[in-house]
Amino acid sequence: MVTLAAVVAPLARQIHRQLKHARSQRWIPARACNLSACSSKLVLSQVHPMWQEPLAIPGGDRQSPIDIVVRKSVFDPQLKPLKVQYDPRTCQQIWNNGYSFLVEYDDTTDKSTLKGGPLEDQFRLCQFHFHWGENNTWGSEHSIDRRLYPAELHLVHWNSDKYSLFEEAVIEENGLAVIAVFLKIGKRHEGLQKLVDALPAVRHKDSVVEFTKFDPACLLPENIDDYWTYAGSLTTPPLTEAVTWIVMKRHIEVSHDQLAVFRSLLFTSAEEQLQRSMVNNFRVQQVLKGRTVRSSFTPFLQDAPPMM
Ligand SMILES: [Zn+2]
Repeated sequence: MVTLAAVVAPLARQIHRQLKHARSQRWIPARACNLSACSSKLVLSQVHPMWQEPLAIPGGDRQSPIDIVVRKSVFDPQLKPLKVQYDPRTCQQIWNNGYSFLVEYDDTTDKSTLKGGPLEDQFRLCQFHFHWGENNTWGSEHSIDRRLYPAELHLVHWNSDKYSLFEEAVIEENGLAVIAVFLKIGKRHEGLQKLVDALPAVRHKDSVVEFTKFDPACLLPENIDDYWTYAGSLTTPPLTEAVTWIVMKRHIEVSHDQLAVFRSLLFTSAEEQLQRSMVNNFRVQQVLKGRTVRSSFTPFLQDAPPMM
């Protein structure tokens, strides 16, 4: 989504103008601070400016995120295990892009890759980011049987077998593969803490800090063999329908304090008078429109008693 903003900004702007359903959503300005001593105005955001104006959906038949209805998902025995190979040395920096923070990876070579699962090609990791809520009741983009999680991780990869640049892949049907992992509140996540410690340096929009040797595999659940997969889109402009989604069945745990640091970031740049907390940075759910969600596992068979 990141690099997107910079690269496909003109397309995004055009898209912004066209989408009709978002027309009812309006940014509601926060009340001005009425204390004369108040110098810093900090408010929660209702609707992020990115969604303020009408947007266009190219095609519009395979948009994301969605609610995954478990009993309607179809077990596909052809789905293979995922093969994730990440090289922590490709980790480069963290960027607050005004909507989330992106941990960006060097994707000029096939050093950090994803293949297998529903994918026929090899995909390169370019960045990961999260979506989260203002409290622990919501925040994830996808849901399972209408159940939302406080946050959701997205590891974004592009098809390096078919394309030579992320910018090319992002507009193609089979261009991107995103792994989604739900975050639940529980015990502190030791692997995540190195990233949490670095976040205060990117509190404001447009700030970038060097961040190296971070292995994103530490953010995956222990079992990555069980997942749902479906054909969808980016959940931020330009919303292109380029994504093979791979949604992990198992969540990871993070502490409330760790998520609180996410919430201490800002949508706004240092120069802006009215500072807005970076929370609720998720897209509203989209209609399935006849798509099938496949699963790599069948809970019914797994839980059945052994045959006598
Ligand atoms: Zn995302």
